[in-house]
Amino acid sequence: MTPMPTLCIYNPATGALITEIAADDATSVAAKANAARAAQPAWAARPIAERLAVIERFRAALLREIEPLASTLTHEVGKPISQSRNEINGLIPRLDFFLEQAEGAVRDQHVFDGGGMHEQISHVPLGVVANISAWNYPYFVGCNVIVPALLTGNAVLYKPSEYATLTGQHITRLMHDSGVPPALLACLVGGADVGRALLAQRIDGLFFTGSHATGQRIAQVLAPRLIKLQLELGGKDPSYVRADADPLAAAESLADGAMYNTGQSCCAVERIYVHADVFETFVEHFCRTVDTLKAGDPMDPGTTLGAITRAPQLAVLAAQVADALAKGATLRRGGHPLPGPGNGFEATVLTEVNHTMDLMREESFGPLIGIQKVHGDDEAVALMNDTRYGLTAGVYTRDEAAARALLSRVDAGSVYWNCCDRVSPRLPWSGVGDSGLGLTLSAQGIQTFTRPKAWHLRSP
Ligand code: NAD
Repeated sequence: MTPMPTLCIYNPATGALITEIAADDATSVAAKANAARAAQPAWAARPIAERLAVIERFRAALLREIEPLASTLTHEVGKPISQSRNEINGLIPRLDFFLEQAEGAVRDQHVFDGGGMHEQISHVPLGVVANISAWNYPYFVGCNVIVPALLTGNAVLYKPSEYATLTGQHITRLMHDSGVPPALLACLVGGADVGRALLAQRIDGLFFTGSHATGQRIAQVLAPRLIKLQLELGGKDPSYVRADADPLAAAESLADGAMYNTGQSCCAVERIYVHADVFETFVEHFCRTVDTLKAGDPMDPGTTLGAITRAPQLAVLAAQVADALAKGATLRRGGHPLPGPGNGFEATVLTEVNHTMDLMREESFGPLIGIQKVHGDDEAVALMNDTRYGLTAGVYTRDEAAARALLSRVDAGSVYWNCCDRVSPRLPWSGVGDSGLGLTLSAQGIQTFTRPKAWHLRSP
């Protein structure tokens, strides 16, 4: 008999084994996919008020259990406990948005009536959708898909990251306790092999959050099947500080944008361009702000720099630092892994950087930032657009008209004026180029879980 597969879950801050849990295999994935398909029509037939009530109960459960949920998240991904609480609290306005908007977003539209002809558009659930997701914000990236997919009448096969599985199981349990039929939302436990087994099932849509490399592999597998595919991928998000900006306020905002969640945010600030007039003041204050970060036990409420969740990323960060230094960069802060146990890396700031360096071209996904001096808007825009990614981009300036003009020239899904590292449920979340395909959030991020059906109705 083949032994049941298991998944070991480690604490990235200590290296200790947290637990070993039963994982899925191809057989169990197929069984869950079949059960989800059988359960979906009855769910879609329920009045939307019932589906909304389920999400209301899920919302209440999250707030009731916030402490144990935050603790689990911190233990398995190494996120500082205050930031784990922030993530769960931050999910609430997203749920509120979906609760307020879902009904209207998929309401039938009557678009024409004349000459005995009536035209209307209805929104039909896709059916069974798969959600393969990342570990860095598991509540956000999981629920951006699960919640609108369920509200619009779909079944969901949810594969959380192998690095955030306990949180994925909690989300699934709370959904079931709130009234989602167990077969309708299944949690698939495991790594890439389980993800691949999921792709082999009959699914009607794949919603993925993760790296560009994995997204591309998934797109290749699914291409012949012509099913809906959404990919929310990585970034190398730039920000530009103009000569007229307040360099101190910009430094504080951007240090937070680069280092929050230990730099492991898809929309973390990854490159900064600063006008020569304010460069030294900015860099000095940026470094002073970084000095206030506190590494340590992520369960300690005072810790603000957590663990690197995936151990192999430590070598990526070290290699980017070495490459930059070899090409002439100056190390202003950090640059090294923190002494173990666990996966720590110092908050690292480099200047005298340029685009020959990996640090300015490849996603770092850690507490590492390059700050480059520029001499004007055109140079800054050219550098910001010199990337294969396009998730977010920002500018700091006192001049709104200049900001709007600049941001309209930057190729990114989201653009920011005097802010960064920000996601709003009211706005579409999407990427340009290698940052992805499709979108979540906003009313369109609800409709995306349906297909439009066109009705041509002629009165006899
Ligand atoms: P990853 O690509 O390593 O893994 C993502 C998911 O894909 C995991 O669940 C993994 O098990 C699964 N997987 C891996 N190989 C697979 C395969 N061949 N077939 C099917 N599934 C497979 O990414 P990660 O390390 O979990 O996440 C970090 C990345 O996610 C970063 O690049 C980050 O920028 C990106 N991200 C993007 C957004 C966004 O909204 N754009 C949000 C969060 C994270």
